[in-house]
Amino acid sequence: MKPQIAVVGSINMDLVFKTPRMPLPGETLMGHSFHQVHGGKGANQAVAAARMGADVHFVACVGDDVNGKSCLQALAQDGIRLDHIRAIANTATGVAGILLDDAGQNCIVLTTGANALLNESDIAGASNTIAQAKLLLCQLETPLDTVAQAINSAKQADVKVVLNPAPAQALSDQILAQVDYLVLNETEAAELSGVAVTNVESAAVAAAKLQQRGASVVLLTLGALGMWVAASDSSYFLPAFKVEVVDTTAAGDTFVGSFAVAIAEGQDLRAACMLAQSAAALAVTKFGAQTSIPLRDAVERQLH
Ligand code: ADP
Repeated sequence: MKPQIAVVGSINMDLVFKTPRMPLPGETLMGHSFHQVHGGKGANQAVAAARMGADVHFVACVGDDVNGKSCLQALAQDGIRLDHIRAIANTATGVAGILLDDAGQNCIVLTTGANALLNESDIAGASNTIAQAKLLLCQLETPLDTVAQAINSAKQADVKVVLNPAPAQALSDQILAQVDYLVLNETEAAELSGVAVTNVESAAVAAAKLQQRGASVVLLTLGALGMWVAASDSSYFLPAFKVEVVDTTAAGDTFVGSFAVAIAEGQDLRAACMLAQSAAALAVTKFGAQTSIPLRDAVERQLH
C-alpha cells in the first residue's frame, strides 16, 4: 500500500535564462539559452514524494493561463491527485524569472500570482483528505495563515506534520510546537534561531535553539556537507553522498519530499534521513527542478 501524503504549497513556472554574466541596469545582454521548467517548492516536494512511491494529494492554486495548465499536466504525469487544486480566473500562475551566469551565480525574481490566493476555504475543502493522510507536508511559499490552518487541521486528526520553513520567514513558537519534523537549510535556520549557521557546530547550536522554541525533531541540511539531526533523545551528523554537481536547484525540495515518504512508511529517523540524502544527491547531478528529481529505484541503488 502506498502511504498517503497531503501537500499544501506552491506551484510556479521557472523561466531560466543562462547568461555569460549578470546584466547591468538598462543593458540588453545576449543569453546562452532559455529553459522553461516546472517548479515551486510545493510542486517540487509533491513530485519528489510521488517519485518515491507515495499517493500524493496536492492542495494548491494556479492561474487560468498556459503556465498553470502546463504545470498541472506535469503533476498529473507523476500521478499526483489534483482534486484540491483551484484554477483562478484572471490570475497568473506563480512565475520565477531566473538568471544563471557562467560563474554559477543566480538572480531570481519571483511573482507569487495564484499561490498568494490559497486560502482557508481551500484548506477546509481538503480537511478530509488531510485527516486521512499519514502525513502533511508544507512550505512557506503560500500565505502563512493558510499554512497554519492546514497544520491545525492535521493536528486535530493526529496526522504528523513536516514543515520546510522556506523561503525563510519568522514563525511563532505556537506553530513550531505543532511541527513534528522541521526541515530547513542554513539560511532558514539562521532566520528562525538567530544563530549564524556556518558549520556543523553552529548547526547543532541553531537546532537546539529551535527545539527550545518548541520544534520536536529538527533536520538542518548543510548542502554538500550533509545534515545535522536533532531528535528528542539524540543528536548527530550525517554526511552527504559524494556526487558530481551539475545543478543544486531542488536539492532541498527533493530531500524534504523523500524524507516525508520514508516517515510515512514508518522508517526510523536515521534511515529516513539517509533515503532523503540519497535522493537529494541524485537531484544535484541533473539540471533543473522537477526534471532532476529521481525515482525510488535509483535512490535505493545508491543507498545500498
Ligand atoms: P537547500 O537546497 O534547501 O539549500 P541543501 O543545499 O542543504 O538544501 O541540500 C539538501 C540536502 O541535499 C543536503 O543535506 C545533502 O544531503 C544534499 N545535497 C545538497 N548539495 C549536495 C552536493 N553538492 N552533493 C551531495 N549532496 C548534496
